[in-house]
Amino acid sequence: MKVGVPREVLQGERRVAVVPETVNKLVDAGLEVVVEKGAGEHSGFVDSEYTAAGATVADANAVFASDVVVKVAPPQVGGAGGADEVKRLKSGAAFVGLLYPLTSPELIRALAAANITSFSMELVPRITVAQRMDALSSQATVTGYIATLLAAQEVDTFFPMLTTAAGTIPPAKVLVIGAGVAGLQAIATARRLGARVKGFDIRPAAAEQVESLGAQFVGVTLEEAETEGGYAKEVTEEQKKQEHELLHKLCAESDVVITTAQVPGRPAPVLITEDMIADMRAGSVIIDLAAESGGNCELTRADETVVRAGVKVIGLMNAASGLPRNASQMYSRNIHALLTHMVDAESKTLKVDFEDEITRECCVTHDGEIVHERTRDSVGASA
Ligand code: NAD
Repeated sequence: MKVGVPREVLQGERRVAVVPETVNKLVDAGLEVVVEKGAGEHSGFVDSEYTAAGATVADANAVFASDVVVKVAPPQVGGAGGADEVKRLKSGAAFVGLLYPLTSPELIRALAAANITSFSMELVPRITVAQRMDALSSQATVTGYIATLLAAQEVDTFFPMLTTAAGTIPPAKVLVIGAGVAGLQAIATARRLGARVKGFDIRPAAAEQVESLGAQFVGVTLEEAETEGGYAKEVTEEQKKQEHELLHKLCAESDVVITTAQVPGRPAPVLITEDMIADMRAGSVIIDLAAESGGNCELTRADETVVRAGVKVIGLMNAASGLPRNASQMYSRNIHALLTHMVDAESKTLKVDFEDEITRECCVTHDGEIVHERTRDSVGASA
């Protein structure tokens, strides 16, 4: 079975789906790997490293003719010539990547129509046995780290406390809203830089995790705010009001606010409103990691910096691409774990076994149909 690794074509995407270290492992597992010329260029992996690891380096046509094509960004749909990556895939082939299936109806319909068996990395269930395949977590780790570094660069204060001949400078006050994977990494990074950090969430389990990183937990813990899977639910109007009042006070005392709050399948909750920003000091910074799903801050514009009364609001997009080497390594390990889970040990071909929970949960299209129920509902609803 041939695994194809194209160059990423999405503007600003610097990651690659498979790094040379993973090529080695895939070849050891009995698979062939075809990598597009220059695919690893932006993440620091050169063609000769791929060849040394056992891959064939070829042009895009050879890569898209593979049995399984793996990417980071979703395949491009529409556009003339080779721009339409879905059309380049061969009928009956498989595609594995981040597909944003619930918000990409055109792409999902095109994959089904082209008879592609597609797997969405975001839909890999967050169960213990699938942890090695969890690209949401691996990329959120990178995102949280990048967010803190960006904040440190953009804010007008030091992060650590400094005692110098010119006197003492107090540490920066950092508030992280949403203590999931990205938020916890943002907290850990801000702590390492010496800031005084507070973590805010609504899930009770988050309190202990925030405190274990040496930060102060300041959230409103709502027992009913957590689903069985450990995710947050949308909060009621009364709870929103309570949260608003507390966050207003916390934002006003912070030099940096990093927001990461998400509710799966819903637009991001708006937690920071204009009146709160008006009470923040000029020179402070808000980094909004929820910008891709609408933003946690009323003023957020995706991929833009909005400045209001001296407060910068940065709508950070595709942050994981900002650390392409490690983000690619981690993603590539996730891809390797998922592929080897699904490849039949004897025939060395992809086995689409819907009895298997991981396959069933992340397979979006198969045999010309949208097989993933939630995706089918959302694609249907958008028709
Ligand atoms: P996420 O990206 O869905 O959300 C980020 C955070 O925002 C969450 O902590 C959530 O509680 C918080 N949030 C949502 N609404 C909020 C609001 N109104 N106010 C404040 N905070 C709000 O989260 P995630 O990073 O994907 O992690 C979600 C959960 O999944 C966590 O409990 C995590 O430990 C768990 N998880 C489990 C596994 C596994 O078992 N394999 C892997 C990764 C994550």
